[in-house]
Amino acid sequence: MAMKTALVTGASRGIGRGIALELARAGCRVAINYAGNAAAAAEALALVKAAGGDGFTVQGDVASAADRARLVQETIAALGRIDLLVNNAGVAPLVRADVLDAGEESFDRLYAINLKGPYFLTQLVAKQMLQQSPDAAGFRGRIVNITSISAYTASINRGDYCMVKAGLAMMTKLFADRLANDGINVYEIRPGVVATDMTGAVKDKYDRLILREERGITPIRRWGQPQDVGRAVRAIAEDRFPFSTGAVFDVDGGFHLHRL
Ligand code: NAP
Repeated sequence: MAMKTALVTGASRGIGRGIALELARAGCRVAINYAGNAAAAAEALALVKAAGGDGFTVQGDVASAADRARLVQETIAALGRIDLLVNNAGVAPLVRADVLDAGEESFDRLYAINLKGPYFLTQLVAKQMLQQSPDAAGFRGRIVNITSISAYTASINRGDYCMVKAGLAMMTKLFADRLANDGINVYEIRPGVVATDMTGAVKDKYDRLILREERGITPIRRWGQPQDVGRAVRAIAEDRFPFSTGAVFDVDGGFHLHRL
């Protein structure tokens, strides 16, 4: 049975917006979470509606316990239940710094938003899902974590980001194991280099690495688009993988291949 309601964190812009749009196309009502950019969230909602879907916007900082609780309450109030949680919200380091020099402030910020936030939000939502009646196949919900190729690729000038993404990958395994017998499957999607505001600051570097070099870093020689990730989430929302949990989907143009 396809998912009917979804909470997508960080859905105002970038990959999250692409996910919200694809879910709308699949007939999901979507809670579009954002941190501070209300105008972008309103724009995302307008696009969701233009795609024939429906939803609402909900402000909330995933790093804040109070905001996480309110986020779940407001989503339940508006949608009635949460069939799908997508932990997408995330930030890059404000300043890239060598692992020998990187500071605690950046580490704490990334840890709070990219790992602690999703972990405790997943706890809340999983408990909500456990109270929901199962569908005909016995499923109560699905959870998707948006990690990154950085979960296994060392970038020595943003080690904090790599470490928290590796932690989020482990989080997928933990909840997948814990919730499998309760009708909740958990998946990890690992995007490669995707064209969003996050990568805007390093566009020239990736243009060179992907497009200009003779043999670029990705066998598929183009930037990823938010819709590429959205389509993968949509396949999960349409329940295409009922016998998979803890699975990792590489949406990365083949970046993960070891090549000679
Ligand atoms: P983005 O364009 O910078 O968008 C970030 C989104 O997250 C925005 O909607 C933002 O809301 C929201 N957000 C930021 N901090 C938040 C917080 N504390 N609480 C709630 N929402 C918050 O980023 P993106 O490139 O789409 O990245 C989305 C996810 O994909 C991240 O987890 C990122 O690590 C991951 N990823 C990205 C790439 C890539 O190449 N772009 C590759 C691999 C993985 P506002 O609009 O309100 O600021």
